Amino acid sequence: MTIDQLKSAYEAAYQKSATDIFFSPGRVNLIGEHTDYNGGFVFPCALSFGTYLLISPNSEQKINFRSLNIDAVYSLELTQLTTPLPNKAWANYPMGVIAQFIKRGVSITQGYDILFWGNVPAGAGLSSSAAMEVVTAFAFNELLGTGYDRTELAKIGQAAEHEFAGVMCGIMDQFASAQGQKDHAIYLNCDTLEFDLVPVKLEGIKVVVSNTHSPHHLDSGAYNDRVRQCQLAVQQISAVRPIKNLAELSQADFNQVEHTITDEVAHRRARHVVGEVQRTKDAVEALQQGNIEKFGELMTQSHISLRDDYEVTGLQLDSLAEAAWKVDGVLGSRMTGGGFGGCTVSLVRDEAIPTFIEQVGAEYIKKTGLKADFYIAEIGDGAHRIVE
Ligand code: ADP
Ligand code: MG
Repeated sequence: MTIDQLKSAYEAAYQKSATDIFFSPGRVNLIGEHTDYNGGFVFPCALSFGTYLLISPNSEQKINFRSLNIDAVYSLELTQLTTPLPNKAWANYPMGVIAQFIKRGVSITQGYDILFWGNVPAGAGLSSSAAMEVVTAFAFNELLGTGYDRTELAKIGQAAEHEFAGVMCGIMDQFASAQGQKDHAIYLNCDTLEFDLVPVKLEGIKVVVSNTHSPHHLDSGAYNDRVRQCQLAVQQISAVRPIKNLAELSQADFNQVEHTITDEVAHRRARHVVGEVQRTKDAVEALQQGNIEKFGELMTQSHISLRDDYEVTGLQLDSLAEAAWKVDGVLGSRMTGGGFGGCTVSLVRDEAIPTFIEQVGAEYIKKTGLKADFYIAEIGDGAHRIVE
């Protein structure tokens, strides 16, 4: 949809024009998976796809939420914004963000009419939820003049996801959506929130995102189990070596203390996290040295660890990644996002892309009965106002 079409859709919904339009992107994580809530490194980039928010004030004491992606319409009194809605209502994401402003002492005295539209597929692991949270946080920060920086906006989005969607996610998705920069990936230390924007210059190579079309179900289930298993490992290790996060341990440290993790599952989860943090550091260094082959190999190792130790892949993601590894001209391929469905990310040489799509697509249908979708990721900017 073009901006003009979005404006017309807003006029059709609310019988007036939008006064402001904002955008915030989805993200694809190149490497560093399930490390964020363990205080480790991640390396995501913002996509050119994301969520648009059109808004204008109204004269009611209500915020009206509509989306062009989902039919359900919500109309909430200003006094109702701090209580989550039941039944996984989509409006919980923007409401959760507004509730965070209120929690920080900001008063909302004015009603608004809001319309969303997103072109990130929802539930595909490209973080349509973070895009929606961050675009809402960015918009209210601008409209209310609250002056939060982008890192604070990411924290607001993360808190909304915890408190209103019940997903105990790390900071990566919201951070990438808030801080992304065109043609750069974000090398983020999730413990300190220090980050570097690293140019992603891939001569003759593209970042290809492959969608399993099997939505992940990132609710309070399997994802939150992983968070708890990592906390258990931290607790057990802390008996001999006090740590706050698994990511504090180097591989050598881990080898010394791993015997303290008596829970077999927690042990494997911890082994993934420690290995993944090292792979992420190595991958960023390789990219900076122009060694894309090494970057690709580390991506593939990341998938194997997520499959065997972290157990967040499943038939669909494994089928896509394993089919990709067989194609000449693929430097690496791995699941991206929380897992259990969603997307893979692959580095593919330009000349191999048609074969990649054909072979991976065919093998995927054979193994799963599902049709995959492929697109070439364009790395875009983080949250911004759309200036007409
Ligand atoms: P992901 O973040 O990987 O896309 P999630 O399950 O975390 O998947 O978030 C998807 C949910 O976010 C949707 O089910 C819906 O509730 C909400 N959502 C995202 N984008 C939109 C949108 N444009 N309109 C309405 N709801 C949306
Ligand atoms: Mg999400």
